[in-house]
Amino acid sequence: MPSMPTQTETCPLCAYTGETATDVYTHLQTSHRKSAISTRLLEHQSRSRQR
Ligand SMILES: [Zn+2]
Repeated sequence: MPSMPTQTETCPLCAYTGETATDVYTHLQTSHRKSAISTRLLEHQSRSRQR
């Protein structure tokens, strides 16, 4: 029985979890648009930066 450390990667946009970062990356490419990811990132950045 292999006891490899299962490191789960989580999607920053939803509750998706993959075994590897590549899985999450593929998920991001297929389930989320790049624009949506960029919007989310900018949204998060603007929130932390209060004028
Ligand atoms: Zn996702």
